[in-house]
Amino acid sequence: MFVDKATISIKAGDGGDGAVSFHREKYVAAGGPDGGDGGKGGDIVFVPDDSLSTLLDFRYKRKYEAQRGQNGGSKNCTGKNAPDLVIKVPRGTVIKDKETGCIIADISDDGPQIVAHGGKGGKGNARFATPTRQIPKFSKPGFTGEQAEVILELKLLADVGLVGFPNVGKSTLISVVSAAKPKIANYHFTTLSPVLGVVGAGEGNSFVMADIPGLIEGAADGVGLGHEFLRHVERCRLIVHIIDVSGSEGRDPKEDFEVINRELANFSDELAKRPQIVCANKCDMATEEQIAELKKFITDKGYPFYEISAATTQGTKELVNAITEELSKLPPIKRYESEMTLRKLDEHAGEGQRFEITRGDDAVFYVEAPWLEHIIRTVDMDDYMSLQYFQRVLRNTGIIAKLEEMGIDEGDTVNIFGFEFDFVF
Ligand code: GDP
Ligand code: MG
Repeated sequence: MFVDKATISIKAGDGGDGAVSFHREKYVAAGGPDGGDGGKGGDIVFVPDDSLSTLLDFRYKRKYEAQRGQNGGSKNCTGKNAPDLVIKVPRGTVIKDKETGCIIADISDDGPQIVAHGGKGGKGNARFATPTRQIPKFSKPGFTGEQAEVILELKLLADVGLVGFPNVGKSTLISVVSAAKPKIANYHFTTLSPVLGVVGAGEGNSFVMADIPGLIEGAADGVGLGHEFLRHVERCRLIVHIIDVSGSEGRDPKEDFEVINRELANFSDELAKRPQIVCANKCDMATEEQIAELKKFITDKGYPFYEISAATTQGTKELVNAITEELSKLPPIKRYESEMTLRKLDEHAGEGQRFEITRGDDAVFYVEAPWLEHIIRTVDMDDYMSLQYFQRVLRNTGIIAKLEEMGIDEGDTVNIFGFEFDFVF
C-alpha cells in the first residue's frame, strides 16, 4: 500500500536531573557539595532513506520518544547524554506541526536534521556552592525535551510531473521513455501510487519524471484520486499535460485541457503558474483534423505543443528533448523553507498562565500570579522533589525567562506571595 501522509507524535528526551550530594571520606567530617549535572536528553533526528518510498510504517508506529538523559551522580559525575532517536523517511518528506500547520523541516537533502531537541541536563548542587551558601541542598531538574504532534507528508522530488485524465496514456509514456514499469491497462485509476522514472536524455543528461494518478474533475475538492496526489506535482519544475487527442473515450480534448488546468488552479495558484508542455497522445488513433484543431487551440493559448503516440513511441524522442531543453531554463526542484522550530513553540509554553513581575524599590522581584499562590502554599521548599516541581512550574510558564529578560542576576531576591528565595541560574 502506498501511504504519503501520516501523523505521529515525537518527543525528545528530557534532560537528566542534577544531583544533590556531598563529598564523603573516612575521617572527614563534612565535605563540600559534589552533585554532578544531569545528561542531555536524546534528540529526534530525521534522515532521508532512498530505499523507502512510502510512509506506510508510520501508520503502524505512531509514537517516537527519545531517551532521557542520565541523572547526575555523586563525586561530580555528569550523567550520560541519551542517544538520538533517528527516524528514516523517504526522501522528499515534509514535516509539519499539526497544531499550526507550519513546516518544520523538509527531508530532501542528505544529512540528518534535528526536529525535536532533547532537554539539557539540570545542574548538580556542586554548581550552587557560593561563599555564603556552602551547603546547597538543591539541584536543578532536567529540562523538558521538545515534543509535538507532527504530520509527515511525502512530496515527491521529480523534475517533471505528468498530469491528465485517467487513461490518456501517462503510464504508457513513462514506460517507454524510462525504465519505470507502472501498471498499464485500459481502465481508470490503474495507477494508484505515483511512479518515478529516470529519463535519459543523451550526453549524460537525465531527469526524473513522475507518473501521477489521473486527475478528474473535482480532484481539487477530493473527488476521484487526483487531490491526494496533486501534492506530488507541487515540487515539479515542469508539468507535462497529456491529452487523448483522439477523444477515444468520448470526451472533448479541448475541454479535458481546461478541466485539468482548473483543477491545478483550484489546488494552488502556484501550480496554475507552473510551466507546462502540452502533449497530444494517441495520435495514431486520431484524425489529422482532430490533431490540427487541438494544436491551434493550445498554441493560441501560448503553450508548447507536441504530438506523440506513446504506444508506438512516435514523437516521444522529440518530446524528451523538448523537456530537457525547457528544464535547463528552470530553477532546481523546490525545497520547503522551515517556518518554525519546536524550540519557538516551547518558549510559548504556559502562555495561558498569566503573571506580572515588578521590581520593588528594595530591588526585589515581585511575582504576582493568582494561580501561583496555591502552588506556593502546597510546596514544601525543604523537600527536594517539591522544589524541583516548583522550579519546573516557574520555567514552563515563562516566569524564569521573564526574570532573565528583566536582567535578574544570580543571587537577586525573588518574592512570590511572601515566599522569598535567591535566584540561581
Ligand atoms: P493512464 O491512465 O493515463 O496512465 O493511461 P495508460 O498509460 O494506462 O493507458 C490507457 C490505455 O491507453 C491503455 O490501454 C494503453 O495501451 C492505451 N494507450 C496509451 N497510449 C496510447 C497511444 O499512443 N495510442 C493508442 N492507440 N493507445 C494508447
Ligand atoms: Mg496510469
